[in-house]
Amino acid sequence: MLKTDGALLASRATRVLLAAERVLVTTGAGMSRESGIPTFRDALTGLWARYDPEELATEAGFRRHPARVFGWYAWRRRLVRAAVPHAGYHALVALERLVPSLAIVTQNVDGLHRRAGSRRVLELHGSLERFSCVDARHPFPGDAIPLPEADTECEPPHCPQCGSRVRPDVVWFHETLPERVTTEAWDLAASCQAMLVVGTSGLVHPAAQLPFIARDAGAMVIEVNPDPTEVSTAAHIVCRGPAGTILPALVAALREGEGEGARA
Ligand SMILES: [Zn+2]
Repeated sequence: MLKTDGALLASRATRVLLAAERVLVTTGAGMSRESGIPTFRDALTGLWARYDPEELATEAGFRRHPARVFGWYAWRRRLVRAAVPHAGYHALVALERLVPSLAIVTQNVDGLHRRAGSRRVLELHGSLERFSCVDARHPFPGDAIPLPEADTECEPPHCPQCGSRVRPDVVWFHETLPERVTTEAWDLAASCQAMLVVGTSGLVHPAAQLPFIARDAGAMVIEVNPDPTEVSTAAHIVCRGPAGTILPALVAALREGEGEGARA
């Protein structure tokens, strides 16, 4: 049977994954968007459309207008909670069981990988589900945070330990990435044998370096994306299409390969 280019690439990707002991998956906004979650810029609609991203995603903006900034995050958290992980998330959960070692490094703050059931998830940019105080970063329980019914301003609670305001535990502009998670992500990129790059534009640094680190260290890089990106040049194999279609197909092919005893 003559294979289409897409099928040929998918079977190459399957062989690479079957041969790998350590697989690293990186995911970006495209992965979330397929589950209906607006990207950072897409979320600047309605009440928030008139604000500069700098005003909504910096500590300075938060200190100037805490209720406005906190309300924006509370509203996005509500959108995320209403979203359902698509088939691509479940495929990554299955992949975790099919390869000896797999980790996911995500730039997304929606927690969908964990919700789908992935166990080893590194959240480079933090999470909408975690909170801490702005002065000392004392953790604050998320279940004590209101989920507003509409896109309104929302007064943040105060930290019981130091009295400063509670903020979302996401990485804002001009902030550094969480150190422990970043170190682990960079180590994983340098030591994996196969890397799946899913739904990332390749424009957000420093996360955009990860595929290049992996390639330079000898890993096979597989991109899964409907569109060409900055990462495409680093990829050995490019699977063009949505994650919700490509990832389940890869996992199905991998299962077939496992059944044939293809793993050495
Ligand atoms: Zn505090």
